[in-house]
Amino acid sequence: MQVLHVCSEMYPLLKTGGLADVLGALPTAQVAEGIDARVLLPAFPDILNGVSEPQVVTQRDTFAGHMRLLYGRFNGIGIYLIDAPHLYSRPGSPYHDANQYAYSDNVLRFALLGWVGAEMACGMDPYWRPDVVHAHDWHAGLTPAYLEARGRPAKSVFTVHNLAYQGLFYAHHMHDIDLPASFFSINGLEFYGQISYLKAGLYYASHITAVSPTYAREITDPNFAYGMEGLLRQRQEEGRLSGILNGVDENIWDPSKDELIHTCYSRDKLAGKVENKHQLQVSMGLTVNPKAPLFTVVSRLTPQKGLDLLLEALPEILEKGGQLALLGAGDAVLQEGFLAAAAQYPQQVGVQIGYHEAFSHRLIAGADVILVPSRFEPCGLTQLYGLKYGTLPLVRHTGGLADTVFDSSLENLSEGIATGFVFPDSDAHSLMCAIRRAFVLWSRPALWRYVQRQAMNMDFSWHVAARSYRDLYQHLM
Ligand code: ADP
Repeated sequence: MQVLHVCSEMYPLLKTGGLADVLGALPTAQVAEGIDARVLLPAFPDILNGVSEPQVVTQRDTFAGHMRLLYGRFNGIGIYLIDAPHLYSRPGSPYHDANQYAYSDNVLRFALLGWVGAEMACGMDPYWRPDVVHAHDWHAGLTPAYLEARGRPAKSVFTVHNLAYQGLFYAHHMHDIDLPASFFSINGLEFYGQISYLKAGLYYASHITAVSPTYAREITDPNFAYGMEGLLRQRQEEGRLSGILNGVDENIWDPSKDELIHTCYSRDKLAGKVENKHQLQVSMGLTVNPKAPLFTVVSRLTPQKGLDLLLEALPEILEKGGQLALLGAGDAVLQEGFLAAAAQYPQQVGVQIGYHEAFSHRLIAGADVILVPSRFEPCGLTQLYGLKYGTLPLVRHTGGLADTVFDSSLENLSEGIATGFVFPDSDAHSLMCAIRRAFVLWSRPALWRYVQRQAMNMDFSWHVAARSYRDLYQHLM
């Protein structure tokens, strides 16, 4: 079976969030399952520089200008690149300029991605044609629409990694993107008078997946669906919406062989974790004290992540003698809030604003608890890393967080399934109650270690997800 992933990021070449982690790991796991999986990406500079010996497959003059299709390899995976320097040869974020403004030609940049995704199923590479085209998030949302316009030469899967980002463009752009005018309809890609690339994916795909079972249910609810609930409910009733949980790339995230952390450790040799905590406290300028529970956050700082609630609940951690080490970037108000807390309590709060891959490993290895108080969370990866590293996740009961972390309630402790702390409501009080529970468990070191081992025992390998996707593709074909 031949499968083409269409997307805009791939770890480690280019990453702005969890989407890249998924595309960095899933194709490899699929190849191991016997699927011929390849990836199509725009030739952003970081991607073009990372792919070895790209060869020209073909070239075309398109609605978005001239483009060459290149083919090379990365980490053993076949990569197609859309080489159109006038659209993609811009350093930094693939989506916006240095001032955070979305590029004004994004409508064409991502239409071309979708168009090439569909053309691949029509023989754009005469030697390799996908049976299934698998598009990810709004950037690739037009792929199923172009496939529809071409008479559905392949099955399509559209995966929602985050429904909050929609790819909305003015209606007049229908003249620019080479789709039939009739597609601009409520039964199509029209969304309140605009073009929605996300809706195109949701409407035209043969099947939609979300990145966790709970998120797949939540997005049929108006509170999570940004106006797409009607369409998503309909697709769910047709049996065309399901959830497949992401995995963890164990080549990158494994405390027993992670070269980015200070001391490697494992479930049976937890002593090494203490050394990582010591180093983290030193590097963050915190009081070096193995007895102070160290909470961490590694996150984009956006309203989604609920970190405003953490600012409210922070006194609870500090009064009880805990510490916080945060790595993140984004919302200016949140950045300032955490920086102010670090200035006020330098021995208890350490904050690093920015994006640092290696440092994120050291935080997750060194901390005792990883906080993910999200308002919504399609899957979430950092809580999975926390589980693997024996850094107990403290999460809100939503999306993939609800599917992967089990509260240390007395019932769960007695059944041997407790792996962290889960709170129900998106408010500071609910978060504070979970923080208190974490302190209670911390005061019983033997029980803490028991839960740590439970957490480290969980299996989130990509093979499980790869098999679920394979079953889905087979069902569609
Ligand atoms: P999202 O995709 O919504 O940002 P996920 O939890 O699915 O959230 O994935 C986030 C990914 O980005 C994880 O791999 C996490 O470690 C990483 N990450 C987030 N913020 C930072 C940061 N400031 N520095 C390094 N890595 C980060």
